[in-house]
Amino acid sequence: MQIPRLHPETIEQVKQRADIVDVVSEHVVLRKQGKDFTGLCPFHDDKSPSFTVSPSKQFYYCFSCGAGGNAFKFLMELKQQPFSEVVLDLAKRYQVPVQTLEVADRLELQRQLTVRDQLHEILAVTTAFFEHALYHPQGQAALDYLTQDRGLSRDVIQQFQLGYAPAGWETLSGYLVHQKHYPAELVEQAGLIVPRKEGTGYYDRFRDRLMIPIQDTQGRIVGFGGRSLGEEMPKYLNSPETELFDKGKLLFGLDKAKAAIAKQDQAIVVEGY
Ligand code: ZN
Repeated sequence: MQIPRLHPETIEQVKQRADIVDVVSEHVVLRKQGKDFTGLCPFHDDKSPSFTVSPSKQFYYCFSCGAGGNAFKFLMELKQQPFSEVVLDLAKRYQVPVQTLEVADRLELQRQLTVRDQLHEILAVTTAFFEHALYHPQGQAALDYLTQDRGLSRDVIQQFQLGYAPAGWETLSGYLVHQKHYPAELVEQAGLIVPRKEGTGYYDRFRDRLMIPIQDTQGRIVGFGGRSLGEEMPKYLNSPETELFDKGKLLFGLDKAKAAIAKQDQAIVVEGY
Protein backbone atom coordinates (compact mmCIF):
# COMPACT_ATOMS: atom_id res chain seq x y z
CA MET A 1 0.00 0.00 0.00
CA GLN A 2 1.20 3.46 -0.91
CA ILE A 3 1.35 5.51 2.30
CA PRO A 4 -0.45 8.81 1.80
CA ARG A 5 0.69 12.05 3.38
CA LEU A 6 -0.78 12.32 6.82
CA HIS A 7 -2.56 15.36 8.12
CA PRO A 8 -0.52 17.20 10.80
CA GLU A 9 -3.53 16.99 13.11
CA THR A 10 -3.47 13.18 12.92
CA ILE A 11 0.25 13.16 13.73
CA GLU A 12 -0.38 15.42 16.71
CA GLN A 13 -3.26 13.27 17.99
CA VAL A 14 -1.19 10.09 17.71
CA LYS A 15 1.64 11.81 19.55
CA GLN A 16 -0.76 12.66 22.38
CA ARG A 17 -2.11 9.12 22.61
CA ALA A 18 0.97 6.96 22.08
CA ASP A 19 2.58 6.85 25.50
CA ILE A 20 6.29 6.16 25.26
CA VAL A 21 6.35 3.64 28.11
CA ASP A 22 3.54 1.73 26.44
CA VAL A 23 5.28 1.75 23.06
CA VAL A 24 8.76 0.87 24.31
CA SER A 25 7.60 -1.84 26.73
CA GLU A 26 6.24 -3.86 23.81
CA HIS A 27 9.86 -4.35 22.76
CA VAL A 28 11.98 -3.85 25.86
CA VAL A 29 11.46 -5.20 29.35
CA LEU A 30 11.26 -2.09 31.50
CA ARG A 31 11.61 -1.73 35.24
CA LYS A 32 10.39 1.23 37.20
CA GLN A 33 13.14 3.22 38.84
CA GLY A 34 11.94 6.34 40.58
CA LYS A 35 10.05 8.47 38.09
CA ASP A 36 11.61 6.72 35.12
CA PHE A 37 11.96 3.24 33.64
CA THR A 38 15.15 1.39 32.75
CA GLY A 39 15.97 -1.60 30.60
CA LEU A 40 18.49 -3.13 28.21
CA CYS A 41 19.08 -0.92 25.18
CA PRO A 42 17.75 -2.51 21.97
CA PHE A 43 20.10 -0.43 19.82
CA HIS A 44 23.43 -1.79 21.02
CA ASP A 45 24.63 -4.98 22.69
CA ASP A 46 23.75 -3.87 26.18
CA LYS A 47 25.02 -5.87 29.16
CA SER A 48 23.75 -3.67 31.97
CA PRO A 49 20.60 -1.59 31.68
CA SER A 50 21.70 1.75 30.25
CA PHE A 51 18.44 2.56 28.56
CA THR A 52 16.08 5.03 30.26
CA VAL A 53 12.53 5.99 29.43
CA SER A 54 10.99 9.10 30.92
CA PRO A 55 7.19 9.18 30.98
CA SER A 56 7.12 12.84 31.99
CA LYS A 57 9.35 13.92 29.11
CA GLN A 58 7.99 11.24 26.72
CA PHE A 59 11.59 10.56 25.78
CA TYR A 60 14.05 7.65 25.75
CA TYR A 61 17.79 7.86 26.07
CA CYS A 62 20.67 5.38 26.17
CA PHE A 63 23.67 6.39 28.27
CA SER A 64 25.96 3.98 26.42
CA CYS A 65 25.25 4.47 22.72
CA GLY A 66 23.49 7.82 22.80
CA ALA A 67 20.30 6.65 21.09
CA GLY A 68 17.40 8.87 22.04
CA GLY A 69 14.16 10.43 20.94
CA ASN A 70 10.38 10.15 21.19
CA ALA A 71 8.04 7.22 20.56
CA PHE A 72 8.04 7.77 16.79
CA LYS A 73 11.83 7.79 16.58
CA PHE A 74 12.02 4.65 18.71
CA LEU A 75 9.80 2.66 16.35
CA MET A 76 11.40 4.10 13.21
CA GLU A 77 14.84 3.04 14.38
CA LEU A 78 13.79 -0.28 15.80
CA LYS A 79 11.60 -1.42 12.91
CA GLN A 80 13.46 0.46 10.20
CA GLN A 81 10.18 1.97 9.06
CA PRO A 82 9.48 5.39 7.59
CA PHE A 83 7.79 8.03 9.73
CA SER A 84 4.35 7.89 8.12
CA GLU A 85 4.15 4.10 8.43
CA VAL A 86 4.96 4.30 12.13
CA VAL A 87 2.34 6.99 12.69
CA LEU A 88 -0.23 5.01 10.73
CA ASP A 89 0.38 1.83 12.75
CA LEU A 90 0.08 3.76 15.99
CA ALA A 91 -3.07 5.51 14.76
CA LYS A 92 -4.70 2.13 14.17
CA ARG A 93 -3.57 0.82 17.49
CA TYR A 94 -4.81 3.81 19.48
CA GLN A 95 -7.88 4.23 17.29
CA VAL A 96 -7.04 7.73 16.17
CA PRO A 97 -9.06 8.69 13.08
CA VAL A 98 -6.66 9.11 10.17
CA GLN A 99 -6.79 12.22 8.05
CA THR A 100 -4.59 12.60 5.04
CA LEU A 101 -3.97 15.57 2.84
CA GLU A 102 -5.56 14.22 -0.30
CA VAL A 103 -9.22 13.35 -0.28
CA ALA A 104 -8.83 10.26 -2.45
CA ASP A 105 -6.17 8.84 -0.12
CA ARG A 106 -8.33 9.55 2.87
CA LEU A 107 -11.30 7.68 1.40
CA GLU A 108 -9.14 4.69 0.55
CA LEU A 109 -7.66 4.60 4.04
CA GLN A 110 -11.03 4.92 5.70
CA ARG A 111 -12.32 2.11 3.55
CA GLN A 112 -9.47 -0.13 4.65
CA LEU A 113 -9.92 0.79 8.29
CA THR A 114 -13.65 0.15 8.14
CA VAL A 115 -13.18 -3.27 6.59
CA ARG A 116 -10.87 -4.26 9.42
CA ASP A 117 -13.27 -2.84 12.01
CA GLN A 118 -16.14 -4.76 10.46
CA LEU A 119 -14.12 -7.98 10.41
CA HIS A 120 -13.36 -7.51 14.11
CA GLU A 121 -17.03 -7.02 14.79
CA ILE A 122 -18.07 -10.11 12.81
CA LEU A 123 -15.52 -12.24 14.66
CA ALA A 124 -16.70 -10.92 18.03
CA VAL A 125 -20.34 -11.65 17.18
CA THR A 126 -19.36 -15.12 15.98
CA THR A 127 -17.49 -15.83 19.20
CA ALA A 128 -20.61 -14.96 21.22
CA PHE A 129 -22.67 -17.21 18.92
CA PHE A 130 -20.31 -20.17 19.49
CA GLU A 131 -20.16 -19.53 23.24
CA HIS A 132 -23.92 -19.53 23.40
CA ALA A 133 -24.20 -22.78 21.40
CA LEU A 134 -21.91 -24.55 23.87
CA TYR A 135 -24.67 -24.44 26.49
CA HIS A 136 -27.38 -25.66 24.15
CA PRO A 137 -28.25 -29.38 23.99
CA GLN A 138 -26.35 -29.64 20.68
CA GLY A 139 -23.18 -28.37 22.38
CA GLN A 140 -23.37 -30.91 25.20
CA ALA A 141 -20.70 -33.23 23.76
CA ALA A 142 -18.27 -30.31 23.40
CA LEU A 143 -19.00 -29.10 26.91
CA ASP A 144 -18.53 -32.61 28.33
CA TYR A 145 -15.22 -32.90 26.49
CA LEU A 146 -14.01 -29.64 28.04
CA THR A 147 -15.21 -30.23 31.57
CA GLN A 148 -14.75 -34.00 31.87
CA ASP A 149 -11.99 -35.06 29.47
CA ARG A 150 -9.94 -31.90 29.85
CA GLY A 151 -11.01 -30.91 33.34
CA LEU A 152 -11.54 -27.25 32.54
CA SER A 153 -13.62 -25.17 34.93
CA ARG A 154 -16.46 -22.95 33.78
CA ASP A 155 -14.29 -19.94 34.64
CA VAL A 156 -11.55 -21.04 32.27
CA ILE A 157 -14.06 -21.85 29.55
CA GLN A 158 -15.48 -18.37 29.95
CA GLN A 159 -12.15 -16.61 30.19
CA PHE A 160 -10.96 -18.15 26.93
CA GLN A 161 -14.41 -17.73 25.34
CA LEU A 162 -14.51 -21.34 24.23
CA GLY A 163 -17.52 -22.34 22.20
CA TYR A 164 -19.18 -24.77 19.86
CA ALA A 165 -19.82 -24.51 16.12
CA PRO A 166 -23.09 -26.35 15.49
CA ALA A 167 -23.37 -29.09 12.90
CA GLY A 168 -25.16 -28.16 9.69
CA TRP A 169 -23.95 -26.38 6.61
CA GLU A 170 -25.53 -22.98 7.02
CA THR A 171 -26.01 -22.42 10.72
CA LEU A 172 -23.50 -19.61 11.23
CA SER A 173 -23.91 -18.16 7.75
CA GLY A 174 -27.68 -18.06 8.24
CA TYR A 175 -27.21 -16.23 11.51
CA LEU A 176 -24.62 -13.72 10.31
CA VAL A 177 -25.89 -13.05 6.80
CA HIS A 178 -29.66 -13.45 7.09
CA GLN A 179 -30.34 -12.51 10.67
CA LYS A 180 -27.57 -10.00 11.36
CA HIS A 181 -27.32 -8.73 7.77
CA TYR A 182 -23.55 -8.76 7.45
CA PRO A 183 -22.50 -8.81 3.80
CA ALA A 184 -21.61 -12.39 2.83
CA GLU A 185 -18.37 -11.19 1.20
CA LEU A 186 -17.19 -9.77 4.52
CA VAL A 187 -18.10 -12.91 6.43
CA GLU A 188 -16.10 -14.82 3.83
CA GLN A 189 -13.20 -12.38 4.30
CA ALA A 190 -13.37 -13.12 8.02
CA GLY A 191 -12.67 -16.77 7.11
CA LEU A 192 -15.96 -18.09 8.46
CA ILE A 193 -17.82 -19.19 5.36
CA VAL A 194 -16.74 -20.67 2.04
CA PRO A 195 -18.38 -20.05 -1.36
CA ARG A 196 -19.99 -23.17 -2.82
CA LYS A 197 -18.16 -24.59 -5.80
CA GLU A 198 -21.38 -25.37 -7.59
CA GLY A 199 -24.30 -22.99 -7.69
CA THR A 200 -24.42 -19.93 -5.49
CA GLY A 201 -24.26 -19.29 -1.80
CA TYR A 202 -21.88 -20.23 1.00
CA TYR A 203 -21.41 -22.92 3.59
CA ASP A 204 -19.96 -22.79 7.13
CA ARG A 205 -16.27 -23.55 7.40
CA PHE A 206 -16.54 -24.84 10.98
CA ARG A 207 -19.16 -27.52 11.65
CA ASP A 208 -19.66 -29.63 14.75
CA ARG A 209 -16.41 -28.45 16.27
CA LEU A 210 -15.16 -27.19 19.58
CA MET A 211 -14.15 -23.58 18.90
CA ILE A 212 -11.11 -21.84 20.33
CA PRO A 213 -10.90 -18.13 19.58
CA ILE A 214 -7.42 -16.81 18.76
CA GLN A 215 -6.61 -13.29 19.87
CA ASP A 216 -4.03 -10.74 18.86
CA THR A 217 -1.79 -9.14 21.49
CA GLN A 218 -4.44 -6.55 22.15
CA GLY A 219 -6.99 -9.25 22.93
CA ARG A 220 -9.09 -8.81 19.81
CA ILE A 221 -10.32 -12.04 18.23
CA VAL A 222 -8.71 -12.51 14.82
CA GLY A 223 -9.44 -16.16 14.03
CA PHE A 224 -10.39 -19.57 15.38
CA GLY A 225 -9.05 -23.00 15.92
CA GLY A 226 -11.70 -25.69 15.62
CA ARG A 227 -11.27 -29.18 17.05
CA SER A 228 -13.41 -31.97 15.64
CA LEU A 229 -15.39 -33.93 18.18
CA GLY A 230 -15.97 -37.03 16.15
CA GLU A 231 -13.90 -38.74 13.51
CA GLU A 232 -14.00 -35.81 11.14
CA MET A 233 -10.68 -34.77 9.65
CA PRO A 234 -8.67 -32.67 10.02
CA LYS A 235 -8.74 -32.94 13.77
CA TYR A 236 -7.75 -29.30 14.10
CA LEU A 237 -8.99 -26.79 11.56
CA ASN A 238 -7.77 -23.20 11.70
CA SER A 239 -9.13 -20.03 10.17
CA PRO A 240 -7.48 -19.35 6.81
CA GLU A 241 -5.05 -16.45 6.55
CA THR A 242 -7.15 -13.28 6.44
CA GLU A 243 -6.57 -9.57 6.64
CA LEU A 244 -6.55 -10.00 10.44
CA PHE A 245 -5.30 -13.54 10.91
CA ASP A 246 -1.61 -14.04 10.24
CA LYS A 247 -0.65 -17.31 11.93
CA GLY A 248 3.08 -16.66 11.73
CA LYS A 249 2.71 -13.48 13.77
CA LEU A 250 0.47 -14.77 16.54
CA LEU A 251 1.22 -16.50 19.81
CA PHE A 252 -1.87 -18.00 21.43
CA GLY A 253 -2.64 -16.51 24.85
CA LEU A 254 -0.04 -13.76 24.66
CA ASP A 255 -2.70 -11.11 25.25
CA LYS A 256 -3.44 -12.69 28.63
CA ALA A 257 0.14 -13.57 29.53
CA LYS A 258 2.09 -10.52 28.39
CA ALA A 259 1.80 -8.50 31.59
CA ALA A 260 3.01 -11.45 33.71
CA ILE A 261 5.80 -12.20 31.21
CA ALA A 262 7.05 -8.61 31.39
CA LYS A 263 6.79 -8.59 35.16
CA GLN A 264 8.62 -11.88 35.71
CA ASP A 265 10.92 -11.44 32.74
CA GLN A 266 10.27 -15.06 31.86
CA ALA A 267 8.03 -17.06 29.58
CA ILE A 268 7.20 -20.71 29.08
CA VAL A 269 6.21 -21.53 25.52
CA VAL A 270 4.31 -24.73 24.79
CA GLU A 271 2.89 -26.32 21.68
CA GLY A 272 -0.79 -26.15 20.77
CA TYR A 273 -3.57 -24.02 22.21
ZN1 ZN B 1 22.25 1.88 23.58
